[in-house]
Amino acid sequence: MNHELSTSVQYLKGVGPQRAALLDRLGIKTARDALFYLPCRYEDRSASQKIVRLKYEEMNAVSGRVVSAEVITPNPRRPRLRIFELVVTDGSGMLKAKWFNQHYLKKIFKPGQDVALYGMVKHNYRGAGFEMLNPEYEILEPDDTDADQIHTGRIVPIYRCTEGLSQKQLRNIMHTVVRSFAASVQETVPAEIIAAHALPALYESLLNVHFPPSTLAPDELNRGTSPWHRRLAFDELFIFQLGLAAIKNGETLQKGISFLPDGSLSDRLRSSLPYTLTGAQERVLEDILKDMRCPAPMNRLIQGDVGSGKTIVALLSMVAAVESGYQAALMAPTELLAEQHYINIHKMVKTLGLTIHLLTGSKTKKKRDLDALATGEADIIIGTHALIQEGVSFRKLGLIVIDEQHRFGVMQRATLRKKGTNPDTLIMTATPIPRTLALTLYGDLDYSVIDELPPDRSPIITRHFSEKQKDTIYRLIEEEIQKGRQVYVVYPVIEESEKSNLKDAITGMEAFRARFPHLSVGLIHGRMKPAEREELMRAFTAGSVQILVATTVIEVGVDVPNASLMVIIHAERFGLAQLHQLRGRVGRGSSQSQCVLLSYSLNDDAKKRLGVMVATTDGFRIAEEDLTIRGPGEMLGTKQSGLPDLRVANIVRDAKLLEAARKEAFALIGTDPSLDLYPRLRRALEDFWGNRLEVFKTA
Ligand code: ADP
Ligand code: MG
Repeated sequence: MNHELSTSVQYLKGVGPQRAALLDRLGIKTARDALFYLPCRYEDRSASQKIVRLKYEEMNAVSGRVVSAEVITPNPRRPRLRIFELVVTDGSGMLKAKWFNQHYLKKIFKPGQDVALYGMVKHNYRGAGFEMLNPEYEILEPDDTDADQIHTGRIVPIYRCTEGLSQKQLRNIMHTVVRSFAASVQETVPAEIIAAHALPALYESLLNVHFPPSTLAPDELNRGTSPWHRRLAFDELFIFQLGLAAIKNGETLQKGISFLPDGSLSDRLRSSLPYTLTGAQERVLEDILKDMRCPAPMNRLIQGDVGSGKTIVALLSMVAAVESGYQAALMAPTELLAEQHYINIHKMVKTLGLTIHLLTGSKTKKKRDLDALATGEADIIIGTHALIQEGVSFRKLGLIVIDEQHRFGVMQRATLRKKGTNPDTLIMTATPIPRTLALTLYGDLDYSVIDELPPDRSPIITRHFSEKQKDTIYRLIEEEIQKGRQVYVVYPVIEESEKSNLKDAITGMEAFRARFPHLSVGLIHGRMKPAEREELMRAFTAGSVQILVATTVIEVGVDVPNASLMVIIHAERFGLAQLHQLRGRVGRGSSQSQCVLLSYSLNDDAKKRLGVMVATTDGFRIAEEDLTIRGPGEMLGTKQSGLPDLRVANIVRDAKLLEAARKEAFALIGTDPSLDLYPRLRRALEDFWGNRLEVFKTA
């Protein structure tokens, strides 16, 4: 047989075109795909029970000798109902096995054969003996000691199947594949590295992950933490990190800008601030300025929990770029956020004599703005993804700040960077992502964390209410307003609709206006005209609007320190990260702030999420919880991120392996950047990353 791993599964023994189409649905096209299609769990069928000891209503494994094998017609009035009945004994007792309408089995079983069965044990119809319905079976060949038992008498792999392909058929195929192809898989990770981490060989790992020996506890297999699983996960993580290391290495070789900020503007900006920067802000700013002075293009991720003060750090960096004679752009994920940044930044730098422009999709007098960017008249440009559209050009773009990066894919990042010649890039994320996720999503970036909140903050008190406690919520609102504070009320939808049956912002606003006729209640949502929205936000910032009813447009970036109460309606509908962002709109001043989560219907997941919100305000803890509740696949959003899929490794379970793999990968690229000593590894890297490596390289 041909042992090429690229062999189409269609040509494997027992497959053919029809089954190949079914396998394709599972993502299996070639022998290699099949080898790396791992069992989703394992069943321990290794311990055979004596028949007398069988347990009713449980799965049991039995082996014994066939006494009789007959097709019977149990009911003379229903002659077409035929049952194949097998009687087996092991000396301790008798077991009857039945299969409905499968009389072809008559050809397979013969009295005197030794067989193994696995199935649910029931009372037989007289109530005394034992019976199995449709058990899995295997004929044991006494002479052929070489023949593997595949389906019984061992720890058996269970694969994710698809309609038309049974577990047993798929397992047979996998057995063929493993036996014929596992030996053809070549080691690609350098042997020293595998040895240093005491990992088993690839061949052995493939064999055992599919058909493990019964010496290992199935628990370890089921968790995916057996040495063989770890080996396969290591390889995948290693190649993943190797790609990131190669990308990063390629970037540092490019020639970027060496900024020479003289501090003339930033000193004035600093002295106009009503506060001094925290130690964390100073440290991160120093990281950034160091990168900016270097000729290699900066690619730095700044993480900081909501309210940690990322904006001023970004602004000081942008001002440093302007001091050096360049333009700086800030890109935000929503129009509202861009508008907010524009208003705030405008306020902060107005005494510095800088020219600031706002560029969003819906702005009308665009021509003037576009000209200002192209001629270099604009020093600082704030906008949405409109910034990366065609027809937008800069005269001397030196620094790009991307706020709330998790909504921007790798590709968009690359497009924006092409608007300048290797400009420095700063990515700010308020979603504190766990370290392992950061190393995967942003593994090609340097990163700094603002791990300290401004000193005057007191933690937000969060409470979870049900519909019955509405009056308490009204009272809380009243109390805050009386103290001169302001309130946000967030709804999941703008308008009511029969489909969703959710409380909506418009009805909500009307209710608040009726309930608090003496107050000013505003409504903000994504469908408003930008001018109206800006106007309303100015009024709320100035304090002339007391209650702001909103949709999630206010999720990020809105900064009104006097707002001290946030009420989230239908809190059960929101994800953890989103709730944390929303809550971050309060607690931005020195006064005690509160967050009320109002839920209408709760499933277990929602209960867990809201419980986490009540228990902690620590963004990193929330992100860890989110990762365990939602799973890495969903959080990674691999499609959006443009990164290759992880099929074997799980970054939560394999966090330690990931760190180890990353260290090794970066060290290797450090000593042998184009992998000249490891041509096979180089090829594996290109296979795994495909054309993505090119995208990154030219980005
Ligand atoms: P985020 O990190 O969520 O974007 P912001 O940059 O919007 O946070 O800052 C949150 C609030 O904290 C703003 O009102 C800002 O003026 C204020 N702030 C920022 N840095 C400090 C500091 N060092 N001391 C006190 N307040 C600060
Ligand atoms: Mg922000």
